[in-house]
Amino acid sequence: MAKNWVIGFPRIGEQRELKKALESYWAGDIGFEEVKKCSKTLRKRHWQYQKDNDIEYISCNDFSLYDNMLDMSIVIGAIPKRFRDIENEEELYFSMARGNKNSTAMSMTKWLNTNYHYIVPELSKDDEYSLNIKKIKEEYFEAKEFGIKPKINLIGIVSYIAFSKAVDFADRFEAFGKIIQVYEKLLKEISKFDDEIIVQFDEPYFVKDISAKELSLLKIAYDRLSAVAQNIKIAVVTYFEHSKEATKVLASTDIWAIGLDFVYGSDNIDSLDVISQSDKVLIAGVIDGRNIWVSDIEKKVSLLKAISKKLNKENIIVSTSCSLLHVPITLKYEKKLACDIKDWIAFGVEKLAELRVTSNLFFGSSSELSAEDRELLSANKRAIHFRATSNKIHNFEVFERLKNIDSFNRDLPFEKRIKIQKDILSLPILPTTTIGSFPQTAELRKLRRDYKNKEISKDVYERGIKSYIDECIACQEECGLDVLVHGEPERNDMVEYFGEMLEGFAFSQNGWVQSYGSRCVKPPLLYGDVSRPNAMTVEWITYAQSKTEKPVKGMLTGPVTILNWSFVRDDQPKDVTAKQIALSIADEIDDLQKEGIKIVQVDEAAFKEGYPLRKEKIGAYEKWAIESFKLATAVAEPKTQIHTHMCYSDFNDIIDTIEAMDADVITIETSRSGNRLLKVFKRVGYKKEIGPGVYDIHSPRVPTVEEIKEQIGKLLEVLPKEQLWINPDCGLKTRKWEEVKPSLKNMVQAVKSFR
Ligand code: GLN
Ligand code: ZN
Repeated sequence: MAKNWVIGFPRIGEQRELKKALESYWAGDIGFEEVKKCSKTLRKRHWQYQKDNDIEYISCNDFSLYDNMLDMSIVIGAIPKRFRDIENEEELYFSMARGNKNSTAMSMTKWLNTNYHYIVPELSKDDEYSLNIKKIKEEYFEAKEFGIKPKINLIGIVSYIAFSKAVDFADRFEAFGKIIQVYEKLLKEISKFDDEIIVQFDEPYFVKDISAKELSLLKIAYDRLSAVAQNIKIAVVTYFEHSKEATKVLASTDIWAIGLDFVYGSDNIDSLDVISQSDKVLIAGVIDGRNIWVSDIEKKVSLLKAISKKLNKENIIVSTSCSLLHVPITLKYEKKLACDIKDWIAFGVEKLAELRVTSNLFFGSSSELSAEDRELLSANKRAIHFRATSNKIHNFEVFERLKNIDSFNRDLPFEKRIKIQKDILSLPILPTTTIGSFPQTAELRKLRRDYKNKEISKDVYERGIKSYIDECIACQEECGLDVLVHGEPERNDMVEYFGEMLEGFAFSQNGWVQSYGSRCVKPPLLYGDVSRPNAMTVEWITYAQSKTEKPVKGMLTGPVTILNWSFVRDDQPKDVTAKQIALSIADEIDDLQKEGIKIVQVDEAAFKEGYPLRKEKIGAYEKWAIESFKLATAVAEPKTQIHTHMCYSDFNDIIDTIEAMDADVITIETSRSGNRLLKVFKRVGYKKEIGPGVYDIHSPRVPTVEEIKEQIGKLLEVLPKEQLWINPDCGLKTRKWEEVKPSLKNMVQAVKSFR
């Protein structure tokens, strides 16, 4: 019997069925019964995929209508006050997720270092928790009816609390005493389902740097939970990094199994002795659950063999490194990927097959493999070989260029550059600008789609884009802004657009990954050395510049963000890939400045989310992230002003890094925090220019002149006029023209009173 385990499976559906059902339901076009029907179909299909691949440990409760953390809040009854009087279950659930006309939604944040967002639980001191086991029970028996005996996936109690926020008390862990009781009740109830049941608790919080107090809670939690019922076998899993400290603690509890990530947490190897001494079962995560390249099955088997030197084979279960939630579901709809590149890729279903063959090979021998497994194994070997030797991947010129870099620095230091720039630009004090994009209308999306589908000619398309730019420039002139943008009408997405223009990227047709709720993203597949065959933005930016006397900012996406929002190659270090992208961006900046563009913005929206989970690795990340940004921008002559934009407001931990990036101007997202978070710039004596957003673009509301004045006033309490720019806090693409125009007018109006 192959012993293998899948931490979790995606639920959005290979044709995004769940997304479509949810959105139709929210729009009032279908009833909730339809959503339930769709969910059932998906669960069955996903179980079937796993069954077809001889997966022994298949999950239930990995399904969710919106998010697993939110589901857990429902299970333990952690309902924020403002939603408590909603009686209808669905209404309650979706109100918590998305808000309703009376109450704002619960907030959302990234699940560790992934691009998946979970709903942040809100704990309050007068919460009375109570158990709601309905969904778990339904899914468990549904799976049994389908013909499998599933494990039950739950968020572990310590991670649940660690990832929540306390709304009216100081330390969220104060809620532990109450919440553990509900978890105990939950296990008690689950124990009645069957003779023997496996429960998987996800405790990924423990892959971060952890305090002694949190470790002691882990111990208390699993001592208590493993004492609840004899017939429950508890597996605690972590992923995305090593969890050595927690493993030691868990080994001293009575849980049954420990799940570790050996792909992103290779240091977990050091925990094998502890595990073997404690006689725990190891769920060994060896199949990469968050990137999309085929696994080298033979290497995986060698790794497992190395593990089995320390551990009894009987005590090893072969697993995915994390839930497959973070990869697309199947390659079966990919008709346009080049065949060779397609061979190098494994999405969720293909990973199930890899897991099957890996575990069969590890527990058996190659002669015992079925014909089908043998075929897969030889295809796997071929793919690994061809990928490593393909001339599509390697570009000697790029390699040479990178080898010969002698400096990451601009020609002059900031103090000298800024004088030259000020002379040339001669902007008023408190210059006004925007972050880049303007409203993306249905008309515009249709224009791009029609062009992509070859339904209109290049000429018609370009005329369409140009007329948008005309309108956009006219609008900004009318509003009285100082530094203009072209509005980004040619871009569907700030990463995809550049990926499509660069060598080394491929695109799936259907490689969707859930980002939050019904929202999915389709990350580019970065498979090879990156180069830029042609200019990517010059035509549009220079066109926009030809329509105005005011400076137009060139608009590019930075190397770190392009990297962090793609499925990135695993056959070379990330820093090399980032620097290759940086060279292409540098070429673009150079072309722009040669065409007379005086300001170029290099967006690094995803700079912060690439941060490693462990402190010990942050230094290395910061080094290459800074170098990549600098490599991209060092080409700018002293007179060319480099802006960057980041979608954050909290720079407290990374201010030195921001400074080291050496951008002349940074625009950031402080509109919702007044000037509180801005103070760090003053504290460290930050000298470069800053544009803290003065109003929130995430809301359709038009800010009044007074409000913006007040916000500017707050900024001026912290930073001198000479250092400040005035702008909205992010791009305007999700807003409507009717909102954008008056907002920008009010912004310009507000600035005038300070000049
Ligand atoms: N220039 C981009 C825009 O305005 C920046 C978006 C972002 O940082 N998320 O849309
Ligand atoms: Zn932003």
